Amino acid sequence: MAEVLLSIGYDTEKPYGELARTAEGSAMRREQIRFDKRLIEELDSLGAPRTFFMLGDYLQVAAREYSHDELRAVYNPCNPLSDIQSHTYSHCVVRNISGRDDKKPLTVEDFEADLIMANKCLKDILGVDVSGLRMPLGYDSDFSDMPGILGVLRRQGFVYVSSNLREKGAIRSTVTTKRQPHTYEHVGFPDLAEIPSHGWADAIFTEDYCKRYGHRKIGSLGARDHYVSLISLAKDLSVKHEQDIYVSLCLHPWAVREFDSDFGVHRAIVSHLRNVGGKIITYSDVSNRIKRLLGSSTAASQNNEIPIQA
Ligand SMILES: [Zn+2]
Repeated sequence: MAEVLLSIGYDTEKPYGELARTAEGSAMRREQIRFDKRLIEELDSLGAPRTFFMLGDYLQVAAREYSHDELRAVYNPCNPLSDIQSHTYSHCVVRNISGRDDKKPLTVEDFEADLIMANKCLKDILGVDVSGLRMPLGYDSDFSDMPGILGVLRRQGFVYVSSNLREKGAIRSTVTTKRQPHTYEHVGFPDLAEIPSHGWADAIFTEDYCKRYGHRKIGSLGARDHYVSLISLAKDLSVKHEQDIYVSLCLHPWAVREFDSDFGVHRAIVSHLRNVGGKIITYSDVSNRIKRLLGSSTAASQNNEIPIQA
């Protein structure tokens, strides 16, 4: 039977850049790391597989104040529920994004150097070899028109990228039978998958972003209703079209800390998903699964999917 497959990605990044290197950044980081530990313990108690997309710069500055062992104890790369991947080194972009003139696109060469630096940080500090990438900010289209970028990803050992994260002019996107993970086979990269995200990027549930985008405050209840309705919509689509429907969320620990400090929204998401017979898998599982379905030779041979516990 067709089912709903939810993957939850946490873009783990703040503080980074100049702020990260100040006393204020240091205090912010301590609070955030304390919260991340609680978040991961909560996900463990919910039996929820998850993907943490770690920013190299965030991790590197954190490693000045925390030992590698301390950071590994928090982000827990050996936990079977845990999938740790890259969010680039510097939070860079490779296209212009309307409304974000502060972000200048990197050249293909500089982008590759940025990814190499991030991979090294993740390997040195957390001991992980990454194969998945979440693009910072994200775009309203995928990378089908950017073979140079896809070439970099292949060269650096990536098997999936999550780059299509928004609609024109909004940090959200809907779930449809078309807006689903796929490979880049049509442009010559059959071993590379795109995993688009669905729903609002959770930053919108924070006060700062509400102001920036001129929204009224949405808050925890609004967030809960949003994610629950997204899962209901996916369930309806899976029944109507007899097709598995993937829902991939774009969350941020720094935003979760504000809109879901007691994890009520997380519990509601997991409980509703369970009610509709859905399953939580990691982004890496999504990538492996769609390639297996398409018969790709590079899909991981073993199935790491862990069904959500009843
Ligand atoms: Zn980010």
